[in-house]
Amino acid sequence: MISSTPPAEPHSPDRADRWRLSWLVILALTLVVLIAVVVGNQVTADSAPGAASSPSGELDPASGSGALPGSVSDPSGSGSPAGSGSGPGVAASSASAGAVPPVAASPGVSRSPLSGVPGASILESASASPSSANPFPAAGLLRLSGKVPNHGSGQFVYGSKHSPVLGNKGQLRRFRVAVEKGSNEDADAFAAQVQSILGDKRSWIGNGNLRLQMVSGADKADFTVYLATRDTAGQMCARGGTNIRVGGVPYTSCRTPGKAIINLDRWRLSATPYVNAKVELATYRRYVINHEVGHELGHGHQGCPKKGGPAPVMVQQTLTLRGCVPYAWPRRDNRSFSGPAI
Ligand SMILES: [Zn+2]
Repeated sequence: MISSTPPAEPHSPDRADRWRLSWLVILALTLVVLIAVVVGNQVTADSAPGAASSPSGELDPASGSGALPGSVSDPSGSGSPAGSGSGPGVAASSASAGAVPPVAASPGVSRSPLSGVPGASILESASASPSSANPFPAAGLLRLSGKVPNHGSGQFVYGSKHSPVLGNKGQLRRFRVAVEKGSNEDADAFAAQVQSILGDKRSWIGNGNLRLQMVSGADKADFTVYLATRDTAGQMCARGGTNIRVGGVPYTSCRTPGKAIINLDRWRLSATPYVNAKVELATYRRYVINHEVGHELGHGHQGCPKKGGPAPVMVQQTLTLRGCVPYAWPRRDNRSFSGPAI
């Protein structure tokens, strides 16, 4: 008998088989999706730490907490819209300051207490700081938790990056940034914030008479922005003739010639008028950088021009708003904004 070749037709799928098949397909798809998600997360976490260190100076940090890690990626990426081609060395180092092991600190994990500390743990603590991945305090956060060291070594680590030239016209002044060893802060994370603040059009460069550029510790600079523990800040300020004590404790920040000295207590804990007004820490940081650098640029203290209105940046907002509400910038509505000299 000629066996007729059996039709290629597969065995007729009965209902149960079909059922099983569709479940298998669903299962497979689920697995694929799961794997994709896991891999995706991995990539984000890995790329975050490096990204934080070279934000463009032109970005607008106001939208708070800014720092979408993506937008501040390294210079080769989409990150540098400022592109004022003249900024030397912008592309230079993507390796961050040598000091920051890429531990992806999750933003919520606020600083480990100083428990294990002395000396050896500086690197570890620094990298565990929320600043490694995203140097800006979270939106809405009023102050950081965790113990703040009262003193450090008195020595400083300098930022390693150059910024583009910030601003379009006017005299060019160069500045460095430095963070005290033992403060558990990261120099490049501090640098990223200072650069973003001083590069904002609402800051001093906005008037068209001044350009600024951040340079590395090895370069010559006109002034330096220091982040120092309260004891060191107290000593540095006192050496320059300024007493920053309140109730016996070095409390405010100060400027001495060539030095804007930011008190770590305020950098992490903000100040009473801001906390009472529920104004976020990121805004206080903008204020204190603009204020102390404002002194370096020749501006003195001012009063509140209108009760309930915004406070000029040269009001001593760390201590009192003088009837105004917190405001962090020397410019407002694209004009310079100041108050009566006091
Ligand atoms: Zn002042």
